Amino acid sequence: MPAPAPELGVSPLMAGDRNLSVEEARAAIAAALQPLHAPETVPLVQALGRVLAADVLSPIDVPAHDNSAMDGYAFRGAELQAGQPTQLRPVGTLFAGAPWAGEVGAGECLRIMTGAVMPAGLDTVVPLELCRVEAGPGGPSGERVHIAPGVIQPGDNRRHRGEDLRAGLPALKAGRVLRPADIGLVASLGIAEVAVQRRLRVALFSTGNELRTLGQPLDAGSIYDSNRYSLMAALQRLGMDVLDLGLVPDEPAALQATLQEAMARADVVLTSGGVSMGDADHTRAVLAQLGEVAFWKVAMRPGRPFAFGPLQRAETGAPPCWLFALPGNPVAALVTFYAFAREALLQLAGATPAPLPVLQARCTSAFRKRPGRTEFQRGIVEPGPSGWQVRLTGAQGAGILRSMSEANCLVVLGHEQGSVAAGEPVDVWLFDALT
Ligand code: AMP
Ligand code: MG
Repeated sequence: MPAPAPELGVSPLMAGDRNLSVEEARAAIAAALQPLHAPETVPLVQALGRVLAADVLSPIDVPAHDNSAMDGYAFRGAELQAGQPTQLRPVGTLFAGAPWAGEVGAGECLRIMTGAVMPAGLDTVVPLELCRVEAGPGGPSGERVHIAPGVIQPGDNRRHRGEDLRAGLPALKAGRVLRPADIGLVASLGIAEVAVQRRLRVALFSTGNELRTLGQPLDAGSIYDSNRYSLMAALQRLGMDVLDLGLVPDEPAALQATLQEAMARADVVLTSGGVSMGDADHTRAVLAQLGEVAFWKVAMRPGRPFAFGPLQRAETGAPPCWLFALPGNPVAALVTFYAFAREALLQLAGATPAPLPVLQARCTSAFRKRPGRTEFQRGIVEPGPSGWQVRLTGAQGAGILRSMSEANCLVVLGHEQGSVAAGEPVDVWLFDALT
C-alpha cells in the first residue's frame, strides 16, 4: 500500500468562504486521491468490468500466420499483368485451420476461406465477388478463374502475421476497465487469467430522521430513502463492492459510530443528506474529530452542499478512508455523484480516468442562466433534423427524481456561460453511457 500523500491538497480549499467552481472541486479531488494498488488474479470469465492491475503482454504474434481476409482464390500477385485479364486454374481448396501441404504452380490458384493460412509463395487473394469462375470440361479440375484487369493489386486481402499485435507488446494497459471486446482480445492471446485490482469497498448510508427504509411503514412526515438505492445502483454499475450501512438518524453519536464502522471496513464512505445548513453543524463537529473534511460551497445547481476529505485511520501508514458527503435532495445526490464521485471512485479503484462522454447538442428551448455557477438540467438527447438535439424533462426541482429517471443526459451549462437561446449548442453529459 502506498503511504498517504503528506499534502492532501484539500486543506488549502478549506480556508475561507469562497465558492469553488465545479472544475476546481473536481481538480482538488483528483489531486488528493491515491489509487488503490491491491492486485488479485481472476479467471478471464470473471474479469468483465474489473480494472487491469498490469499490462497484458501478448505471448504470440497476432495473427500467428499470414492468412486470407476474404473467401476467394489465393495466387501469386506476380501473375497479374497490367491491363491484361488473368486466368488461373484452381488446384485445391483451403479451409481455416487446415494448412496446405501441396505445391501451387505457375498459372494455378487455390480456393481459400477467410482465415485460412496463406500457403508459402502465395501473397494475393481475389474475393469471390471480384472474379468469374467458368466451369470447364472434366468437372472441378477443368474450372478457370477469370480476373478482369485492375480489380486487384498484388498483396491484396492478405493479413500479415503480427499485423494486429507483435509478441511481447502490450495488448491492454494497466488501468483499463475490461469490456467485452477486451475479454475476447485476452482470450485470443491464449491467456486464461488476468491480474485485476481488488474491488474498491464503498460504505454507503443515508442520514435523516425523516427517512424510512423499504418495508417500513410511512408514518406522518416520513419519506422513503431513495438515495441509498440510486447510489447503490450507480456504485454497482461502476463495479464497486458496496457495504450498505442503512439509515442513520440525525444524531451525532449515531453518525460517529456509523462513520467509524465504515472507516474500519471500507476504502470510501459515501453518504447523502446532513450537509445542508440545517444539519451541517453537528455533522461538521463529528467529522472534525475523524479527519480533514472540507465543506465546500460549490457554485452549482443543484447540489451545493457537498463535503469531501480524508478520514484518518488509527493505524499509522494506512491510507485514509475518503468521505464523499452528498446533498440529500435525490437529484442533487445523483448530480453530485456524477460530477464529483464517479471519476474519483474509478481513480481510487486504479482505473485510467474516463470522464462521462460529452456531446454537443442543440437545445430545443431557451435557458435562463447567469454566469458564475454551473447548472445541470435533466434532458433527453436524441437525433434531430440537424444533428443531436436535447430537450428538458419537465420540472427540474432538485427533489424531483422523476426528471432524472426520464432523462438520458445532463445538460451542463458551464460556470462562465450565460443564457442560451433555443437552437444554440450546449454540452450534455451521457450519464447512462457504459460505465
Ligand atoms: P438534507 O441534505 O439532509 O437537508 O436533505 C435535503 C432534502 O432531501 C430533504 O427534503 C430530505 O428529506 C431529502 N432527502 C435527504 N436524504 C434523502 C434520501 N436518502 N432519500 C430521499 N430523500 C432524501
Ligand atoms: Mg437531512
